Amino acid sequence: MRILSFILLSLLLLSEQQEDAHLTRERTRMVQTQIVARGITDPATLRAIGRVPRHLFVPAAQAADAYSDRPLPIGYSQTISQPFIVAYMTELVRPAKWKKALEIGTGSGYQAAVLAEIIDSVYTIEIVPGLALEATARLKMLGYKNIVTRHGDGYMGWPERAPFDIILVTAAADHIPEPLKDQLAEGGRLVMPVGDPATAQQLIVLTKRKGKITEQRLEPVRFVPLKRLK
Ligand code: SAH
Repeated sequence: MRILSFILLSLLLLSEQQEDAHLTRERTRMVQTQIVARGITDPATLRAIGRVPRHLFVPAAQAADAYSDRPLPIGYSQTISQPFIVAYMTELVRPAKWKKALEIGTGSGYQAAVLAEIIDSVYTIEIVPGLALEATARLKMLGYKNIVTRHGDGYMGWPERAPFDIILVTAAADHIPEPLKDQLAEGGRLVMPVGDPATAQQLIVLTKRKGKITEQRLEPVRFVPLKRLK
C-alpha cells in the first residue's frame, strides 16, 4: 500500500514537472514569436515577460490560452491585455530598478508583476473590489514583495506616494487625468490609451522636463474604459 502511494505521488510530481516545463517552453515561444518578432528589444522587458507565469494570472478555464496572441477575459467584464501590448507599454515607460511606478487598472495583476520584475517599487490601483482582492492575493502568493495594491479610483492617482517616475494607465479615457499629470516626477513618463473608450484609442506618452509636459502619439489600441466611482 505504501509503495503504491509512493508510486502515485511520484507520478503526480513528475506530471506536474512536465506541465511546468511545457508552460515555460510556451512562454519562451511567446516571447520570440509575439514580442521579439514585433520589434521589442529592451532586454529587461524581455526578461521580465519571460519570467512572469501568465497562466497563473488568468482564470483556470483560460490557462491553456494564457500564452496565445490575444487578450483574455478575467471576469467582471474586464480583460488581461494581449502579451505584446504589455511588453510594448513596459518598454515605453523605460523601466529601471531605481524608479517608482504607478499602474492604474491592476486587473489580474499581470502588468504590475512584469513591472515588479524590473522595478523596486510598484504601486497599483484597481476600482473593482473583487479584482483588487484577487490580484492582491495572487501577487502575495507569487512572492512579489515590491508591489503595493490598493482598491480605489485611479483617476485621482496616489497623492500620498507621489511623485512617480512611471505612470502606466491600462484603461482608456477621452483625456489624461490632471491628477496623474501632477503626480508625474521630473523626467518621468506616463503612458495611457486616450480616445473614445467605446471605439478606438491611441497610445499617448507624456514626458515631464523642467516642469513642462510634452506629448507623443503612438499606435492605435483598444482598452476597456476607465471608470469613475460615483
Ligand atoms: N493591467 C491589467 C489589465 C487591465 S484591464 C492586467 O495586467 O491584468 C483594466 C482594469 O482597469 C480593469 O481591471 C478595470 O476594472 C480597471 N479600472 C477601470 N477604471 C479604473 C479606475 N478609475 N481606477 C482603477 N482601476 C480602474
